[in-house]
Amino acid sequence: MPELAPYAVDDATSRGRIVAEPRPKARSEFQRDRDRIVHSTAFRRLEYKTQVFVNHEGDLFRTRLTHSIEVAQIARSIARALHLNDDLAEAIALAHDLGHTPFGHAGQDALNECMQSHGGFEHNLQSLRIVDRLEERYGAFDGLNLMFETREGILKHCSPARARELGELGHRFVDGLRPSLEAQICNLADEIAYNNHDVDDGLRAGLITVEQLEGVSLFRRHAAEVDQEFPRIAARRRVHETIRRMIDAQVTDLLAESARRISELAPKTLEDIHAAPPLVGFSRPMVAENAALKEFLREHLYRHYQVLRMTTKARLIIRDLFTAFTDDARLLPPQYQALAAVDSPARAVADYVAGMTDRYAMKEHRRLFAVGEI
Ligand code: MG
Repeated sequence: MPELAPYAVDDATSRGRIVAEPRPKARSEFQRDRDRIVHSTAFRRLEYKTQVFVNHEGDLFRTRLTHSIEVAQIARSIARALHLNDDLAEAIALAHDLGHTPFGHAGQDALNECMQSHGGFEHNLQSLRIVDRLEERYGAFDGLNLMFETREGILKHCSPARARELGELGHRFVDGLRPSLEAQICNLADEIAYNNHDVDDGLRAGLITVEQLEGVSLFRRHAAEVDQEFPRIAARRRVHETIRRMIDAQVTDLLAESARRISELAPKTLEDIHAAPPLVGFSRPMVAENAALKEFLREHLYRHYQVLRMTTKARLIIRDLFTAFTDDARLLPPQYQALAAVDSPARAVADYVAGMTDRYAMKEHRRLFAVGEI
């Protein structure tokens, strides 16, 4: 590993784990966190959870698993180039979507509505609940007992009310402090990954067209470069070559702008990072180009009628499941009945439903509601 900047998170200055453990023998503390995340049940479920497209629609679309791997790749590269802790960046990236419900944002919104009078549902908080509590793999503790800074990075957003309940981890939301640079990198790596892969998946699904994308400057600019360099390139390859350059341009811009802001502030310690405004970010022109790309995706992909049909159905499934289980908690598997006794029944139902993969949720729905199948 290249030498870390003095304001990077490292093992020696970390605030450590909730349950003290001996130091790992051949790994860093944050490598251990990454490994625990990779071995978790929630991580494996990401393979059958989606963001925009429902999992069974095609084998080539991103799932939350491949998305998380792409985010980890981008975050690691940026962290290493800035002399930050790339093991921590990787761990946060691999864990950042663990708390997502089935059926992407439609599922999260539906579950949040169902949970309105029970404290709501928020996927960041759920990711934290999984790594702090719900994973049952270790004799000495519930959850994965991750390092403070990994947990801090997972908790991207949080309302002030919830932040107070979270104690030390919630402080920064109350005090208006920034997380580590490694966590800031993961936020933007997430954005870079999904904006670009949604273009790719949207095209592959036939929901958006290259002609429409020519109206988006980030795409047009790089496609023109590709055309100049490879005038006879095949259509599919042209798209890949263009998206590859878009990712590279965004990462390169982010690196340059972040390095500029860091050198301007000249932080000496991690405390300086917490107190500073966000230091990881795009340049102003790239912020504008990114916003245009996002707006395009919102209008033409996320609100495409075929996508809306899927999300409408997804909402229905989540609501039905939630209602059936809260009406009669005896329908829950024993593990969740036990949780219902400790937390609230509604929270246990939310844990169960949120943990489902897309296909498992559809199967449970059939089991509960399809006439002729029990
Ligand atoms: Mg994500």
